[in-house]
Amino acid sequence: MTEAPSPNNRDSGEQDQFLTILSREEAVRRFEAALFPRAAVREQRRLADALGGALADDVVAPLDVPPFDRSNVDGFAVRSVDLSSAGEGTPVRLVLNDEAIACGTAPAKAVLPGTATAIATGGPLPRGADAVVMVEHTQPASGSGIEVRRAVSPGQFVSYAGSDIARGETLLRAGTVIGSREVGILAACGIADVSVARRPRVAVISTGDELVQPGSPLRPAAIYDTNGAIITAAIDENGGDAVFLGAVPDDDAQLEAAMRRALLESDMLVVSGGTSKGAGDLSHRIVTRLGRPGIIAHGVALKPGKPLCLAVCDGKPVVILPGFPTSAMFTFHDMIVPVLRRMAGLPPRADAKVGAKVPVRIASELGRAEFVMVSLVEGRDGLIAYPTGKGSGAITSFAQADGFLRVDTLADHMPADTAADVTLFTPHVRAPDIVIIGSHCTGLDLVTTPLARAGLMVRTIAVGSLGGLAAARRGECDLAPIHLFDDKTETYNTPFLAEGLELLPGWRRMQGIVFCKGDRRFEGVNAQEAVRAALADSACIIVNRNQGAGTRILIDRLLAGARPEGYWNQPRSHNAVAAAVAQRRADWGMTIAPVAQAYGLGFIPLAEEHYDFALVTARKQRPAVQAFLDALATEEIRAALALAGFRRA
Ligand code: AMP
Ligand code: MG
Repeated sequence: MTEAPSPNNRDSGEQDQFLTILSREEAVRRFEAALFPRAAVREQRRLADALGGALADDVVAPLDVPPFDRSNVDGFAVRSVDLSSAGEGTPVRLVLNDEAIACGTAPAKAVLPGTATAIATGGPLPRGADAVVMVEHTQPASGSGIEVRRAVSPGQFVSYAGSDIARGETLLRAGTVIGSREVGILAACGIADVSVARRPRVAVISTGDELVQPGSPLRPAAIYDTNGAIITAAIDENGGDAVFLGAVPDDDAQLEAAMRRALLESDMLVVSGGTSKGAGDLSHRIVTRLGRPGIIAHGVALKPGKPLCLAVCDGKPVVILPGFPTSAMFTFHDMIVPVLRRMAGLPPRADAKVGAKVPVRIASELGRAEFVMVSLVEGRDGLIAYPTGKGSGAITSFAQADGFLRVDTLADHMPADTAADVTLFTPHVRAPDIVIIGSHCTGLDLVTTPLARAGLMVRTIAVGSLGGLAAARRGECDLAPIHLFDDKTETYNTPFLAEGLELLPGWRRMQGIVFCKGDRRFEGVNAQEAVRAALADSACIIVNRNQGAGTRILIDRLLAGARPEGYWNQPRSHNAVAAAVAQRRADWGMTIAPVAQAYGLGFIPLAEEHYDFALVTARKQRPAVQAFLDALATEEIRAALALAGFRRA
């Protein structure tokens, strides 16, 4: 586990596989040891351009603020002893000196016993005076004098020199990010130029023949380059100056040229993809040719993120992140951000943690520290952390999470109901106003739109109907959207309600057979005829649904025991069925009308599925739940649902 990677490989130019898998901590330790200490690169900035910069040095006050004893009010500078006997019945009369101290005027005359000098807010206290009386507490007296009917204490309404900022005081520490408040302190001290850490220039390269940049049309079998955009943004968020160099195909020569150029022009290089065992995975081999000492760690006992490769090439950090966006983001935040922040002169990021109970069992791989993204909701006795995981390929499991928890390297699972520490992605948890856990539907997004517009925070967690019901029974959500068909009673949803739950009718989703428009076997016939035609043609491939889905029950009934080609392809969602047919991986399947419509497929209606809500009665009176009920009842939402192909129950 702790053996160093073999140095000989560097010169052979090839380093094919994870030679040694390091623990996360050991990989970080070696990477940091190879990079630090290093001289901070600094630059001078005018105060007006300093916003967002990290101070390179401590700032020590060059002067006192205020620079002199200053009046806080409009009134008269006095000697407090003169007024020691002043009271309602015993006014004291003071003679006014013939000057008035305005803001910015240096006093010329001393305040002698028995006298006072008019002074404005911000004016410097004259010699002899030790307090100020507010003008409201005086009355003009005969001659050029004033009468005072209350005593004053020494120092009243005076800000002493240096009381705000004292000369020699350390005002701001190196590493502080300059915001408007820091700008204020610097300006008050008269500082016009500050020395800030120069943002490290970080080149970002995506690799893969399959990548297309957002904005361009997607070719078949291609995907959008997600990592390029997120890594670029995350670098800028953490004090770097990212330069995105685009996606490079899996071609050794092109990739090496791009990486060499990137390294010449920047302080750090972050590549994503091409770091695992695949035939087209080149990036880590190229790194071995880019400079010394080369690869520091390749393969970290970390999930997501095992294929992470850390290198230092002639003093510059080179990182190859795993290709899967969630793995790429997670390893970037966990292991690269600390290095980047240090190079950018920023203090380590403060990660806030909260305790939460995990209601479900989490399977984990033995021997790797596993990080699981979670969404937080408020339960009966404290926070509940729901794994958002859809696998390391899912961008949403990172983007929609509140934070993550760690399953120990030596555990093969985390049992349900474990109390865990959740590291937050944001400084604070904001508990959602309404929590909806269960089966997701695009219609649901329409209903929650007005809530979101009204400033309510809506949290929806897609765990399927049964998972939603379990959450509702445990009181972890307000509503559980479900579409469960009961074979015995041949009804939807109601038979599944437990005590404490009531049914809130949602909408109906027409289910039917989908096919590519123009397919003669399906065009213009009813469902039974379509199935007969499909079964009669041995080349006709079905895409099925997973066991337990209401749709699956319909399919099995229609098939009446037949097992056509494709039967064992059992995706878990309406969308996956439509995509399979639209991409001609299958000829037919069963999905809901709005999805068929969205994919431009032919549709033969068969039966309506009931999409309803199990409402937790005890939470019904909550304002956000009421807002949901109201939204569901409005004409506007009904119309929007109808337009999207849903029929209101
Ligand atoms: P690789 O590490 O290159 O083998 O990639 C692993 C997986 O991540 C593959 O499914 C890639 O298509 C995907 N992937 C790689 N790079 C990106 C990227 N920049 N954006 C989105 N997905 C990516
Ligand atoms: Mg790749």
